[in-house]
Amino acid sequence: MNQPAQAIDGSSPPVVGRLAPSPTGGLHIGHARTFLAAWLSARYLGGRLILRIEDIDVARVRPESLQTALDDLAWLGLHWDEGPYIQSQRLAGYAAILDRLKAAELVYPCTCTRAEITRAASAPHLEDEKPSYPGTCSRRTVADAARFSSQTFAWRFRVPPGPVSWLDLYKGPQSLDPSHLGGDFIVARQSVGPAYQLAVVTDDSHMGVTQVVRGDDLIPSTPRQILLYQALGLHPPAFAHIPLALGPDGRRLAKRDGSIKLQTLREKNVDPAPLLKTLASSLGLGQAKPGDWLSAFRLENIPPTPYQLTADSLESLFATQP
Ligand code: GLU
Ligand code: ZN
Repeated sequence: MNQPAQAIDGSSPPVVGRLAPSPTGGLHIGHARTFLAAWLSARYLGGRLILRIEDIDVARVRPESLQTALDDLAWLGLHWDEGPYIQSQRLAGYAAILDRLKAAELVYPCTCTRAEITRAASAPHLEDEKPSYPGTCSRRTVADAARFSSQTFAWRFRVPPGPVSWLDLYKGPQSLDPSHLGGDFIVARQSVGPAYQLAVVTDDSHMGVTQVVRGDDLIPSTPRQILLYQALGLHPPAFAHIPLALGPDGRRLAKRDGSIKLQTLREKNVDPAPLLKTLASSLGLGQAKPGDWLSAFRLENIPPTPYQLTADSLESLFATQP
């Protein structure tokens, strides 16, 4: 199932994968695992890998983390073929895509504050649902934005009714209704810039990415990104959402815990080889030797349950020096 579609002459289109770290405080073992999966998934099909630094969320980005992320990946030995592309240097491309959405009246200017939205939204149906945008501004047109030149506002994408489906390379057929995921979503903020969904879709399409392997925490983004591809007349990449890693406490790994940061491991002179082996084994490669990983890897062999890092396995990693 995770083979690329075959062209009519039997040849397979080249696979292009990507690693897309956000420089918000250094990579940790969970990132290493997801990136190893993305790396293996592109490489075992003979594909190329692009490195893209997703640094447009200025509230979360720490400039020094960019170099840390590059050092972390190099230390792991996850080499890339193209990039690093830096999102904050690609703003003109995102603006051009936003212009196309505006020209098609697929976005509208929204001046609601978060408090207004929460007040007007109906209560979510499910526990993990966000309150949906109540549509307060949706009758506006793009031209109405001229009235708000003195205030900040957001460009919201008009979500069409109904579920969005995709064949996940890992999870199989998926169907999610974006109206249960917050409804009309923000693609850019006036004078602040593009939002994640717009930047990712622009980049993945401009960079010719055919395969996105990422953590399943990003599943709620996927239907929104697919809607953007459709609105722009672009072909979405194939998506594979794999389970995240959990820390010894059973919670999602977080950068606040220094012991799982790759930077900490590097500084303590830890050997990356046993870490990679542990992670490869957690991705269904069992005891396969590193030289056999590319021939043995299959996305569908990644266990469906989250990978749980134990205190013992962490301790034994710290005990390894090259
Ligand atoms: N930059 C995102 C993150 O680090 C990943 C985005 C993606 O893979 O689409 O969470
Ligand atoms: Zn609004």
